[in-house]
Amino acid sequence: CGIFAYLNYRVPRTRKEIFETLIKGLQRLEYRGYDSAGVAIDGNNNEDKERFIKLVKKRGKVKALEEELYKQDDLDSKADFETHFGIAHTRWATHGVPSAVNSHPQRSDKGNEFVVIHNGIITNYKDLRKFLESKGYEFESETDTETIPKLIKYMYDNRESEDISFSALVERVIQQLEGAFALVFKSIHYPGEAVATRRGSPLLIGVRSKYKLSTEQIPVLYGTCNIENMKNMCNSRMKRLDSSTCLHAVGDKAVEFFFASDASAIIEHTNRVIFLEDDDIAAVTDGKLSIHRLERSASDDPSRVIQTLQ
Ligand code: GLU
Repeated sequence: CGIFAYLNYRVPRTRKEIFETLIKGLQRLEYRGYDSAGVAIDGNNNEDKERFIKLVKKRGKVKALEEELYKQDDLDSKADFETHFGIAHTRWATHGVPSAVNSHPQRSDKGNEFVVIHNGIITNYKDLRKFLESKGYEFESETDTETIPKLIKYMYDNRESEDISFSALVERVIQQLEGAFALVFKSIHYPGEAVATRRGSPLLIGVRSKYKLSTEQIPVLYGTCNIENMKNMCNSRMKRLDSSTCLHAVGDKAVEFFFASDASAIIEHTNRVIFLEDDDIAAVTDGKLSIHRLERSASDDPSRVIQTLQ
C-alpha cells in the first residue's frame, strides 16, 4: 500500500515526464506490498479545452498499469498543462477483493468529480455508506474507501457558498471518518489544486523549487460538525480561529510538490520535506502550500518546518 502524488506549479512538464514521475514514485513504494495500482491524471478535451479527470486502474503490478497508461495516452499530444496534479496508488486490499474497480483512486461519481487515494482502514464505513446511499449516492466498489469521495461530493453538493475551498470540504469529510487514513484528493472543481491529510497512516510532502521558499503563519477559520446533522453542519458558521503554516516560493514562482507514504519515493526529487502530523490538512492552491491542524491543543506548536533529509 502506497501513496504518491505530484503537482507541478508553473514548471513545464510533458505528459511523458508526468507519467514517468508518477510511475517511478509507485515503483519506489512497491516494497511495501500491494495487489493493484492506479492513477488519476488530467486529460483535456482538445475541442473545448475543458479538463476532465482520467482514471487508469489495474489489478497486478505497477508495470501492467504503466503499459495500460501508455497504451491509452497519446504522449506526443500537445495537451500539456502549466500546472498538473496527478495522484497514484498501490493497494493492499483490506475491504473488497483485489480488482480494477476496487483499486484506487476511488471516485465520487461516473464524472470523476472527486477522486481519492487512501492508505488505511475506515472503520465506520458501513454507517457512512448507509447514510450516503439513503441520500441517493450510488456505490460501485466493495471498499471502505469509496465512502470518502462520495462524502466529499455530498459536502460539495450541499455547500452553503459557491466559493468554499477544497480544504474546507476535506476538513468536513475527515471530521466524519473513524479509523486510519492517509488521503490525497483531486477534483475537477479545483483544477491544479491538491489536498492531503492523514490520521494514523504516514504521509509527507516534498518541495522542490530553485527559488527561495518562505514560510509564514496565516490565520485559519474552522468549524465542527457531526454525522447526525451533516446538512446543518454544512451551513454552520466557522467557529474557531487558529493559525496555519503557509509555504510558498517567493514571488509566486515555479514550485513542485511530491506527496508520498514514505521518503523513499521523494528523495530522488528533493531532500526538503514536511512530515504531516495527525489531523493536518495540507492544501496547495496557486503554488502555495498551507497546512493547518483540525484540532489543536493549546500546547501544540502550530508551525510546520521543512526538514532536510540526509
Ligand atoms: N482499505 C482500503 C482498501 O481496501 C485501502 C487499502 C490500502 O491501504 O491500500 O481499499
